[in-house]
Amino acid sequence: MKVPFLALDDFPGLPAEVLGRIFQTTLARGQFIGGPELDQFESEFAQYCQAGNCVGTGNGLDAMHLVLWAFGIGPGDEVLVPSNTFIATWLAVSRVGATPVPVEPDLATFNMDPDRARDAITPRTKAILAVDLYGLPAPMRELGEIAAARGLFLIADAAQSHGASIRGSKTGSLADATAFSFYPTKNLGALGDGGAVVTSSDTLARKVRGLANYGASRKNVHEMIGANSRLDSLQAAVLREKLKHLDSWNERRAQLADFYLTQLRGSDLILPRVPEGYGHAWHLFVVRSRHRDALRSHLSSLGVEALVHYPTAPHLQEAYAHLGIRRGALPVAELLQDQVLSLPMHPGMTDEQARCVVEACRSFRPD
Ligand SMILES: *Cc1c(COP(=O)(O)O)cnc(C)c1O
Repeated sequence: MKVPFLALDDFPGLPAEVLGRIFQTTLARGQFIGGPELDQFESEFAQYCQAGNCVGTGNGLDAMHLVLWAFGIGPGDEVLVPSNTFIATWLAVSRVGATPVPVEPDLATFNMDPDRARDAITPRTKAILAVDLYGLPAPMRELGEIAAARGLFLIADAAQSHGASIRGSKTGSLADATAFSFYPTKNLGALGDGGAVVTSSDTLARKVRGLANYGASRKNVHEMIGANSRLDSLQAAVLREKLKHLDSWNERRAQLADFYLTQLRGSDLILPRVPEGYGHAWHLFVVRSRHRDALRSHLSSLGVEALVHYPTAPHLQEAYAHLGIRRGALPVAELLQDQVLSLPMHPGMTDEQARCVVEACRSFRPD
């Protein structure tokens, strides 16, 4: 049996014809930028996130960049970021001219360690940009207390955590501002690029909306230097439809995760841990193994596709050579890049496919 890592043509309960009709309706309306579909998606997604405002953007990287820009963060400033994340988190900081300062994660949760964050703060630090890695919210209450005590902004990169929560509070409501991505593989994905900024601050939302629209507050009135980064009306219409299914898709992910957790207990794999009170969105199911590459080949030989998120930590990428962070300086991130493996996970996966993944993992014998 073949078990693909994910299946982007399979949205359980949402037939392709429904998406086809959305294209026809949008085409007939003839409004491709802005308009009612975007307004409605923004208000529905803000409500879903238990926040006051949502501003659609062109993608998740732009969403983070726009937040940092709107907060006035720039050259000479430092922003705390995870040492183990997709490089986009760091790029957003670099794009405003500020310096990303890596903070190592807690090995058990993969997320930013609040004590290490506190230790990394300097007089130049302006914000903490935490990532809800693999779908598990970062410890936002602890990070929020540190941010409040030191006068920092708390920003969340929730590109992987649509629908996740801490004690019932959804991602999008846990930070001063939250950036979402609707890249097609995410838990809530468009049929192309898309993103959003979610915030309870009306002032910040207005600023982000202006910056994302040529610095204009209304047509032909440009108050600031802006950019062009918008969520297309067509993508907004698709996302409105998919948002109706997000909870049931996340529930299916949670079922699959529970199955993996119970069936793989006692194996050689180090399994992900969900802290008490946290609602995991299970964007990825990531295990650790000291024999990661051999395990991945073994799975592949049995038709099970597993991926590595991420094989090279940002500080070891050429793009960040100028920061001069030497190999060995961030041991946790460097250990994770060698040990993490993401097992197949998507809402369309069958029980039989999940069993196949478990059997393939359990039959692995490192030499
Ligand atoms: C996908 C992702 C992004 C980038 O989102 P885009 O929409 O592709 O720009 C940023 N951060 C994390 C953690 C991601 O997984």
